[in-house]
Amino acid sequence: MSRPAKITVDLTAIQYNYQLAQALAQLSAPSLAKSPKTLAVVKADAYGHGSVEVAKALTAQVEMFAVSCLEEAIHLRNAGVQNKILLLAGFFEVADIDLGIQQNCEFVLHNHVQIQTLLDTSLDNPITVWLKIDTGMHRLGVSIDTVQEVFAQLSASKNIENIRLLSHFSNADDLTSDYTAAQVADFNACVSSLIQQQAKAKHCELSLANSAGVLAWPDSRLDWNRPGIMLYGLTPFITSHPEADKLIPAMTFTSQIIALRNVLIGESVGYGNTWIAQRDSVIATIAVGYGDGYPRTAKSGTPVLVNGQRVSLVGRVSMDLICVDVTDLAEVEIGAPVELWGKHLSANEVAKWADTIGYELVTRMPNRAKKEFI
Ligand code: PLP
Repeated sequence: MSRPAKITVDLTAIQYNYQLAQALAQLSAPSLAKSPKTLAVVKADAYGHGSVEVAKALTAQVEMFAVSCLEEAIHLRNAGVQNKILLLAGFFEVADIDLGIQQNCEFVLHNHVQIQTLLDTSLDNPITVWLKIDTGMHRLGVSIDTVQEVFAQLSASKNIENIRLLSHFSNADDLTSDYTAAQVADFNACVSSLIQQQAKAKHCELSLANSAGVLAWPDSRLDWNRPGIMLYGLTPFITSHPEADKLIPAMTFTSQIIALRNVLIGESVGYGNTWIAQRDSVIATIAVGYGDGYPRTAKSGTPVLVNGQRVSLVGRVSMDLICVDVTDLAEVEIGAPVELWGKHLSANEVAKWADTIGYELVTRMPNRAKKEFI
């Protein structure tokens, strides 16, 4: 019998979550003439869910995918995915430009070196580029005060046929912050002044919304929306939100109990003897550990579902094993099913106990636990 730690990815949940994103995108700013589109962000192996399987499940619904870099795009191409692919970090070397074009990819241009490199290159056919504007993340993108000049250079180049404008939010997951509205306003003001001074800018398609934008910031829903985490059924928000609450988690991480023992009051469990029984306890050992992607930083008290009931992690997470306190369960046996996170226990909730976020938990799953797609 194989080790019971297992990841199940529900591709129909991802299709449903995508439809929810697309439906919200249709409720975009009324000033938009064209029908808004929703690309699917499948970088980092689709946030750990399996980019090939996820892209294939969405291929008919999605016009375009977004990944971080060319290697991730080529991985999808080699598996037969044919949709256009946006490279969110653009290209890193000159050779990537031709290769990216051959692979039917589009580039985000986010710095002046990329822009100059593209202007200095001779392309057989003009391409579409996505010019990233820094409206407050201060990580990637050209500054607002250089946009006029950069746009003029790009639109005068025979290499460029079409320019799309995008920016990225730094704090849209905080529903109480006014920073997102300020980023939207700065982006809109930048685009308006561009249009006033350069007629070509009028035809540029615009893109702002990540998952948080799609779900909760209607003014950020523009021509192209770019949800990632919501496709996998995880909310980007700390607090509940009516749209985010409709999402269906796609990844379920399960295992089984492989040992049970009685521990007397005062006895310890696990490495470092960090957890000491405060009563005579029944401790169950589960075949999952940080080698499978369960976070080692999860503290005693982290919820785990055994037979569908909540129990608490006790002691340190080991490479292959964790222990939970099942004293209060009426019935528990070796072989009992365990959910570490999934549809009944959010990865976001577990992440909080491990001082991280659901994004990180699902994305950094190693290949050790078997992955099944349903
Ligand atoms: N757009 C860009 C430029 C990104 O870098 C990301 C993710 O980091 C996304 C969209 C998707 O963000 P989220 O997963 O929060 O929806």
